[in-house]
Amino acid sequence: MYLDRELEICLNVVRKASSLCMKVREGLTEEDSMKKFDHSPVTVADIGSQVVITMELLRAFPDIPIVAEEDSASLGQNEELLDKVWHYTGQYLPGHDRGVIIELLEHGRGEPSSSGRYWTIDPVDGTKGFLRGDQYAIALALVEDGEVVLGILGGPKYPVEPNNPNTLRGCIFYATRTGGAWMQGYTQPEIFPISVSSPNSTAGLRFTESVESAHVSHSIHARIADKVGITRPSLRMDSQCKYAAVARGEAGIYIRVPRDINYRENIWDHAAGAIIVTEAGGKVTDFDNQPLDFSVARKLVNNRGILATNGIIHDAVIGAVREIMGKD
Ligand code: AMP
Ligand code: MG
Repeated sequence: MYLDRELEICLNVVRKASSLCMKVREGLTEEDSMKKFDHSPVTVADIGSQVVITMELLRAFPDIPIVAEEDSASLGQNEELLDKVWHYTGQYLPGHDRGVIIELLEHGRGEPSSSGRYWTIDPVDGTKGFLRGDQYAIALALVEDGEVVLGILGGPKYPVEPNNPNTLRGCIFYATRTGGAWMQGYTQPEIFPISVSSPNSTAGLRFTESVESAHVSHSIHARIADKVGITRPSLRMDSQCKYAAVARGEAGIYIRVPRDINYRENIWDHAAGAIIVTEAGGKVTDFDNQPLDFSVARKLVNNRGILATNGIIHDAVIGAVREIMGKD
């Protein structure tokens, strides 16, 4: 059936990338990370995960372009980092030498387009969370004629049971267009359908937001939540795990007001999460209630702010955003 082969290959590779990330995390040292030119962190896990995913995608789908977060510049001239990436990825690259790492990273420089297909990869979304030992995600999506048609989020630290941080951790979330949204614990055989919350009252809802105050404005988020009548404290989490929280009903709303209003989001930070929420019955738009436009550039140049909700509360939150942002 449509996308069956793509889904099977992608689930498999996200699992491989997840176990690579978990291994790096276990033995993480200061030398395993460095700062990129924009001062954001990059680690052996970010690069290794992208290399493994790219290898498998190129093997199975050699003609589909790849739009990914990292490139060879992320490694700089850091030979030591290259050696470490090889240490973790070599087993996935039989018949190659370490030079293939640079080649594979260069494949990630693809450009989105409004026709045909492309992959988008965030090999470690929420690198700051990864470094802190908090949530992070491995995100992979397929975009076809400008629409996301498949999205997968691997969350190695994500609790298998909603609202139970003491439960087993490690979940994979996925969705295909019109195929619904699903989750599976990394070590569980069962696959479960997931759906957004449909509460009777707004007061019982939670909203989720980024941990990083350098990325988003927590104070504006609090005012928006207050305006729609939310009384519970927010669920702060790194990465697209926030989309998973909305898709599985742990949160009713994911709000993202960037700290700098001129900031434009990267497509790999939203493509996988957005289809998982939509297929779970929710809604994802920007603050102008427009759909996210994955057809133009590596950034969502046509969108300002992000709002993912259970759908029911969407218009009310858009109204609150307009009132509050309009006044700022
Ligand atoms: P989160 O964990 O939700 O804060 O999202 C992590 C993502 O935020 C990273 O993958 C970055 O691409 C993105 N990011 C980095 N800097 C900024 C910024 N100044 N404003 C908004 N998002 C950012
Ligand atoms: Mg990211």
